[in-house]
Amino acid sequence: MLDGLDPEQREVALALHGPVCVLAGAGTGKTRAITHRIAYGVRAGILPPASVLAVTFTNRAAGEMRGRLRQLGAGGVQARTFHSAALRQLQFFWPKAVGGELPRLLERKIQLVAEAAARCRIRLDRNELRDVTSEIEWAKVTQTVPADYPAAVAKSVRDAPRDPAEIGQIYATYEQLKRDRSVIDFEDVLLLTVGILQDRPDIADQVRRQYQHFVVDEYQDVSPLQQRLLDLWLGDRDSLCVVGDASQTIYSFTGATPDHLLNFRTRHPNATVVKLVRDYRSTPQVVHLANGLLSQARGRAAEHRLELISQRDPGPEPAYTEYADEPAEAEGTARRIRDLIAAGVPAGEIAVLYRVNAQSEVYEQALADAGVPYQLRGAERFFERQEVREAGVALRGAARAGGNDSLLDGTDDLPSQVRAVLSTKGWTSEPPAGSGAVRDRWESLAALVRLAEDFARVKPGATLSDLVTELDERAAAQHAPTVQGVTLASLHAAKGLEWDAVFLVGLTEGMMPITYAKTDEQVEEERRLLYVGVTRARLHLSLSWALSRSPGGRASRRPTRFLKGLRPGSGSVGAGGAGGGGGVERGAGGRRKRRGPVQCRVCGATLTEAGAMKLMRCEDCPSDMDEALYERLREWRSEQARELGQPAYCVFTDKTLMAIAERVPSTDGELSSISGVGARKLERFGADVLAICAGQEGGLDHIED
Ligand code: ATP
Ligand code: MG
Repeated sequence: MLDGLDPEQREVALALHGPVCVLAGAGTGKTRAITHRIAYGVRAGILPPASVLAVTFTNRAAGEMRGRLRQLGAGGVQARTFHSAALRQLQFFWPKAVGGELPRLLERKIQLVAEAAARCRIRLDRNELRDVTSEIEWAKVTQTVPADYPAAVAKSVRDAPRDPAEIGQIYATYEQLKRDRSVIDFEDVLLLTVGILQDRPDIADQVRRQYQHFVVDEYQDVSPLQQRLLDLWLGDRDSLCVVGDASQTIYSFTGATPDHLLNFRTRHPNATVVKLVRDYRSTPQVVHLANGLLSQARGRAAEHRLELISQRDPGPEPAYTEYADEPAEAEGTARRIRDLIAAGVPAGEIAVLYRVNAQSEVYEQALADAGVPYQLRGAERFFERQEVREAGVALRGAARAGGNDSLLDGTDDLPSQVRAVLSTKGWTSEPPAGSGAVRDRWESLAALVRLAEDFARVKPGATLSDLVTELDERAAAQHAPTVQGVTLASLHAAKGLEWDAVFLVGLTEGMMPITYAKTDEQVEEERRLLYVGVTRARLHLSLSWALSRSPGGRASRRPTRFLKGLRPGSGSVGAGGAGGGGGVERGAGGRRKRRGPVQCRVCGATLTEAGAMKLMRCEDCPSDMDEALYERLREWRSEQARELGQPAYCVFTDKTLMAIAERVPSTDGELSSISGVGARKLERFGADVLAICAGQEGGLDHIED
């Protein structure tokens, strides 16, 4: 059990009594050390599995931890997010503490906040609405009630997005609306649990009898509210082990603070404190950049920074690429990803990380165009998706109807039973064309099929009801099955995770740091966010930015200030790489034909969305597409896909086919000007497509030259 650990990590695993604090940089094996510690403690009989609660910050990380614990033979240990652990306790104790059923959980706060603002006759634009919603979240996790909000803002030298009195008023109305409608929000789950544990010593005792040992990963991002909950769970005991990296604090905008981590010794003077510096994750090249980024950091977290030392063999220098515009950046990224996959890197070991979720669309499109499978992070909500819930109902029905019996006579194995049931819900052996909702639905069902296959492999002889139980357990834990594909995720969602190849995209001023990071502290948090991104890469790291938003737009953007002095050609500061391979390249965008801003062919509006640009019209403007030609193109595409043994969207996406059917190109040049038709596709399919278009254009059955 301890063989896989270095001496400091082993010290963590062996410190099974009393408070323990691990302060260490990214990739140094913090998560590994605590999972081994738990497993070792369980094996040694010191930690009864059911008495341990391991807490982390994302569902994905919790799922990962459960997997690792199971592998180490400590499957009985609970690994959860603060939120899911609290929700479970709340559901359990609500009838006793309050009576009746727990109110419904509000999915999206922002609509209710908008309603509250309208009631208060305060007009908010979209940005203000988002900011006010964040303020309400901040107030709640810092346990500030509406009436105290203005004073709390003044005290915390916080930059409120509106008059604090107004925000306090919206906040109060929002709380009232929730009560009127019997719903609770995300923060209420923690607040109510804290309330019950505080007010009901009998319930607190019951919880404390169950959980006696606590482990917290990513402790630098603990909010005051989560800390309060942890204190209540712990009571007057001290079996608490926390691990974290102050340089990865990326949630202080929500009220989280690394102070609890950095002051752990003060609060627990007898704590065992261990520091880890060996980085097992990343190559010296990646680590060099990570250290360089931190060397320019300021503030309290930065004072505690630890210089990482890579334990890995050297790898490629990080690649820095400047593109002319965003679609070019996305296309260039997709091309590089395709090359990596061709060179043997599995798609599941590649990630594209961006600052805000809205950036995903252009990458989804580019990857679909390049025929690269991908998954959007946020997959933790997997079991809440409608198609997954429906599939669950169908599988449960089949299990009840005796789906298990056919196993006895050996006619049908578990995966084929699952495939049969899910095909009634829209699962097919080949994915549908396109990248829209239909495709998403299919991906979810395909992920369930893969889950059934994996499950049957691990548990030979498992029945459909066993699978249904497994699904329920996973759903309860919200652990999504792995979807094989390139990960698209925000930097925040990438915390704690790692990939062989990481693409950090959109690294311009305004995105990184994001425009609304105004104060020094906010800018420092953005720098840490970039540090988190960089340290996700094991081997290949690519950083890119685009000088304008759309093709032909003004090149008004500048690369992020955080890379100054670190990327070649960006000025002094002696932290540059050891040379070789890291030079700034002009991306594909540099070679692109210079196009004017793309305008809608129908209404003349300037287009900014990738899908619309491809069609060269607003998506909701009437289409002059030749439907018959479109159908013929689709038929041809299905044939191609069959012959190539690839999904149809790898030939051309629906959007590209539509654009072709609208423009009816008659020359190679016209065809290649349609986005989604690159040189490779032109060479491979150009003749076919032009022939189909020509046949249609002449209204003749024979094909003209
Ligand atoms: P983060 O700060 O990003 O959460 P971390 O400190 O939790 O990182 P881990 O995810 O535990 O780091 O480990 C990083 C990688 O290094 C993992 O792939 C892990 O398996 C590997 N690793 C950690 N310690 C060792 C070790 N002693 N020997 C070999 N590999 C190790
Ligand atoms: Mg970790």
